[in-house]
Amino acid sequence: MSLPQPSTVVAMPAVRTADLAVVGLGAFGAAVACQAARLGLDVVGFDRYRPPHEFGSSHAETRVTRLAVGEGAHYVPFVQRSHELWREIGAATDTVLLHDHGGLIVAPAGASNDERWGAFVTDTAAVAAGTGIDFEQLTPAETRTRFPHLLIGDDETVGYEPTAGLVMAERAVAAQLDLAIASGAELHFDSTVTGLRRSGGRPVVSTSEGEIAARHVVVAAGAWAPTVHDHDRLRVTRQVVFWFEADDLERWRPDQLSFVIWARSSIEEYLGAFGSPWGGIPAVKVLGEQFVEPTTPDAVDRTVSRNEIAAFYERMVEPRLVGLTPNCVKASVCLYTNTPDDHFLIDVHPEHDDVTVVSACSGHGFKHSAAVGEAVARRAAGLDHLDLSPFGRSRF
Ligand SMILES: Cc1cc2nc3c(=O)[nH]c(=O)nc-3n(C[C@H](O)[C@H](O)[C@H](O)COP(=O)(O)OP(=O)(O)OC[C@H]3O[C@@H](n4cnc5c(N)ncnc54)[C@H](O)[C@@H]3O)c2cc1C
Repeated sequence: MSLPQPSTVVAMPAVRTADLAVVGLGAFGAAVACQAARLGLDVVGFDRYRPPHEFGSSHAETRVTRLAVGEGAHYVPFVQRSHELWREIGAATDTVLLHDHGGLIVAPAGASNDERWGAFVTDTAAVAAGTGIDFEQLTPAETRTRFPHLLIGDDETVGYEPTAGLVMAERAVAAQLDLAIASGAELHFDSTVTGLRRSGGRPVVSTSEGEIAARHVVVAAGAWAPTVHDHDRLRVTRQVVFWFEADDLERWRPDQLSFVIWARSSIEEYLGAFGSPWGGIPAVKVLGEQFVEPTTPDAVDRTVSRNEIAAFYERMVEPRLVGLTPNCVKASVCLYTNTPDDHFLIDVHPEHDDVTVVSACSGHGFKHSAAVGEAVARRAAGLDHLDLSPFGRSRF
């Protein structure tokens, strides 16, 4: 998306007006549109695809959610409010969006070179203690007794949060879009926003279908964000999700264990394994993380080769998870968009103070997205809202 300066704009076609225009209707844009429409704002939203879709960052069935957010205590009000909203939106749309039956995090007991996850149990325990969230630290032996299908080593430290769980990803996006439409939002799918300019003191977004002059614009473009703002700061990377068949799927149900996040001494050894929701893909979802090569949504290789699947199984799955077979029933590519410090970027656009960017949620955004959407919508409506200032650009 190009951002022409006002002086370059020569024609001003007749435009539709709105209170709020939302660019991108993935996890964050859907939440903003839903909450703004429920507040009674006149909302128009656009997505270049038909969400929920598989081209961005909000697919692959499930997302981990933890109330004790080891990434920082300032996230806790967002995830707590999001859990309330997932329940509320689930009830309003007759669907289950949250399975909060407890989750496990594992990290090395000693030093780790993994800056992202290495001290995660200690960091999470500190946030839990400071915010009054239940969090148990287990010995490796206790963990192996409770979860015999996880090959935890004696040199590992383990934490269990009983209120942690899984959010149903595509289902949550779809439910929020349904509720947005039911609350009066006008949503355009397969409709790309191609420009943002100013006219009459307002931001105007251009699409192939016409132009919208809004009182406020929210850009929630996910991995496409660097084409709109902060391109020097945002880094998009390719991540792969695999689903391996299990000998006994019942012990991988979310009510047995929603997830394990398992850090070792380097980021290359990071492993996430997810409970298999009832009625979903009949296999166990697993993933690693990599931050080596930046990519873009257009350039990324969206195929997952047999070699990539076999290598991941041999290196990551077989040595640590009991009862998963090498049969990969599905694999999918997903995109992370990270800031330099791996925290969120939610702020006004560098050139337009009536445009909010909600972006770069750095691989851990989904769990907070419902409440972030609500806070952004309330701010656009001039209402009190959760404090978004820790996510501002001034920290860089
Ligand atoms: C593999 C993986 C695992 C993850 N695991 C977790 C987890 O366990 N827990 C957690 O909390 N978070 C997790 N995350 C992070 C979380 O999923 C993301 O932070 C979140 O989904 C990002 O949502 P988004 O709305 O920013 O992006 P998206 O959902 O990608 O939405 C952006 C939307 O903008 C649209 N768009 C872009 N440009 C335009 C344009 N010009 N015009 C119109 N539309 C446009 C796109 O089509 C897209 O639909 C994970 C992410 C990945 C990739």
